[in-house]
Amino acid sequence: MLEFDNTERTNLGELGEFGLISYLTKAVEINEPSTLKGIGDDAAVLDFSNKKTLISTDLLLEGIHFDLRYVPLKHLGYKAVQVNLSDIYAMNGTASQITFSIGLSSKFPLEAVEEIYQGALIACKKYNVDLIGGDTSASVQGLVISVTSIGFADEDQIAYRSGAQEGDLLCVSGDLGAAYVGLQLLEREKNIFLENPNIQPDLEGKDYIVERQLKPEARRDIVELLAKIGIKPNAMIDVSDGLASEIIHICEASDKGCKLYEDKIPLDSMTYETAREFGIDPTVCALNGGEDYELLFTIPQADYDKIKGSMDITVIGHITQASEGCQMISKSGKVYPITAQGWNAFKD
Ligand code: ADP
Ligand code: MG
Repeated sequence: MLEFDNTERTNLGELGEFGLISYLTKAVEINEPSTLKGIGDDAAVLDFSNKKTLISTDLLLEGIHFDLRYVPLKHLGYKAVQVNLSDIYAMNGTASQITFSIGLSSKFPLEAVEEIYQGALIACKKYNVDLIGGDTSASVQGLVISVTSIGFADEDQIAYRSGAQEGDLLCVSGDLGAAYVGLQLLEREKNIFLENPNIQPDLEGKDYIVERQLKPEARRDIVELLAKIGIKPNAMIDVSDGLASEIIHICEASDKGCKLYEDKIPLDSMTYETAREFGIDPTVCALNGGEDYELLFTIPQADYDKIKGSMDITVIGHITQASEGCQMISKSGKVYPITAQGWNAFKD
């Protein structure tokens, strides 16, 4: 049940590995000044001059990280790049290159692989990133994608997880929980379709949460905004596994505690309503859902005036001493410990 726009099916065996690589990479452009050599030699060559280099890798496996029954291939290529760039932005850096590696089973025709690449290249173009290499292999079962992203930053601008200070404001960009609720919706429609293939998926009016799941956008704009208003976050992380898990990562790495206020957690109204339809607590979607790819960061209180006008940044709590632990103050004023997998922990 592979879904792709181009209905031709060219068997990968007809091209061979080198034919496939040159076919896939024919549309690749090199635009970044730091790329001295991209695809075509044994290694790419980069020059970051006096900047520090940032590198991050993700591995995406069919059946574990994505389900081809509802993920369009172009979106998959796009998302694979986005989730990786997000890690470079989470260091307060500029992403500049990626490598893109794929393992393909024989069920994949060339046209399907091409769609994955189209999606990946759209993301590269939009975020000013060069695709500088990769690897291509057969896979016995399932599609495998691995992306490595490379970027740079001035040493004194790098934001580590470990830099949070007592009294810092805990801030998050955008809104949370939408990608998780979008996934629940896609799963439900997939199951209905599997039971009765005549029923078309009903995603009417749910564009925002479905897009948040299928087509996330890494927050380069937030990194740029912070630079423009003169803020260097003391600590930063991207929200891939859910707010709770990321808060714990920052607090553990910084040897600090925190207070998170439930009523401050930014939720989109469609996320809220759809979570309720599914009988899930919307706060739990934000805390444990994941795949939001927003940025969670801490800033000194003195910087509050610089962010208070921004619609896209919400203060959700503050950093405390380690001995106070990581706590959430619920809407009704009760205090709960934040745990990485606290599905039922926040029921009043
Ligand atoms: P090697 O045998 O040295 O690994 P390859 O034949 O695998 O070389 O790759 C040749 C060139 O094509 C290299 O520059 C490599 O980075 C690039 N390349 C291979 N696979 C991909 C891919 N899936 N996407 C982009 N570039 C690729
Ligand atoms: Mg190779």
